[in-house]
Amino acid sequence: MPALTHIRQVELFAPEPMGVCDIVFCQNRILAIGHDFQLQSTGLDVHCIDGRGLIATPGLVDSLVHIIGGGGEGGFATRTPEMQLTEASLAGVTSLVGALGTDSVTRTLPALLAKAHALELEGLSTYCYTGSYQVPCKTLTGGITDDLLLLDKVIGVGEIAISDHRSSQPTLAQLRTIAASARVGGMLSGKAGIVSVHVGSGERMLQPLFDAVDGTELSLAQFYPTHLNRNLRLLQEAFRFAHQGGTIDFTCSTTAYDLAHGEIAAAEALARALHDGVPEQACTLSSDGNASLPIFNAEGALLGLEVGRVHSLLQSVRQAVHEYQVPLSQVVQAASSNPARVLGLPHKGQLRLGLDADLVLFQQGDLQLEAVFAKGRCLVEKGLPVVKGTFE
Ligand code: ZN
Repeated sequence: MPALTHIRQVELFAPEPMGVCDIVFCQNRILAIGHDFQLQSTGLDVHCIDGRGLIATPGLVDSLVHIIGGGGEGGFATRTPEMQLTEASLAGVTSLVGALGTDSVTRTLPALLAKAHALELEGLSTYCYTGSYQVPCKTLTGGITDDLLLLDKVIGVGEIAISDHRSSQPTLAQLRTIAASARVGGMLSGKAGIVSVHVGSGERMLQPLFDAVDGTELSLAQFYPTHLNRNLRLLQEAFRFAHQGGTIDFTCSTTAYDLAHGEIAAAEALARALHDGVPEQACTLSSDGNASLPIFNAEGALLGLEVGRVHSLLQSVRQAVHEYQVPLSQVVQAASSNPARVLGLPHKGQLRLGLDADLVLFQQGDLQLEAVFAKGRCLVEKGLPVVKGTFE
């Protein structure tokens, strides 16, 4: 029998606070959560970790990462690089969804799918959206429904861009068809069939989604809009969307320029949402890792591009706790169990008996990363990667 890992006396957030517990897992299964397990005399091969002074949370679930890179909006030299394994593991991210963005010509779905498989082999749990900003959607097997049914890793479609100058400007009928195709594909394949929606800074904000649902059998829950902390007006619109049953996502990667020009940090957006009475299950955080983040000077000229980082998700978790006093359980929920639920991944995002052994150990207090286990395998130990990607 493979070795058991036994974490003793760790403060558990499952993500709800569970107090001091022992956690036992073997390979990719959580076998037991309880108190004072005595496994040393059983003769089993047990790797014991002293959890005192540590916090255990579920591995973070990042619903939007440009794993093969994205960008390119400033020409060929502004295409962003691929994500490497340790960029996720050192952020406490054990599950992620890969997506295309503006460019669906030099960035392709076969390349996205191949990279998702590579990251899975390297240790993460990975999924993909079919499609991109471009509408009608390019797909792999002939349609959105087909891709959901025929490709294990495809759990939805996106990023479908609205209210953005880079968008294909989908019509109402096109938005409805995309959502309906995803819904049917999701039902038939037992997946979420979610529509990830990139929301730009355009005046219409979330109105295309309200309009798409109006007068049809579709619901707002079919759509999963992101970048909703882009400005205060959009944030207020997001709260309205959430109060009507939708889930809202805040983007953690940002630049000093954007924050100085109206963007609300994801951590602050989460704090404001909860303060506004938005249901805590309705809020999620994602990194937008490896997206391009344009930097402008005061005259609005493009100076260069920064690259979105998966690590921003972990930074936002810390910022929400330390600067905005959001309870740790609610912050972790926004980065684990909530996205897992929206993405239709019931075995992810929670630390419970029988679920996947994806967990993060943090130092109490400063929330420094101590260890990361993905599918039961240790990827990070004492804050350092013990597993690296093939080309790292
Ligand atoms: Zn986007």
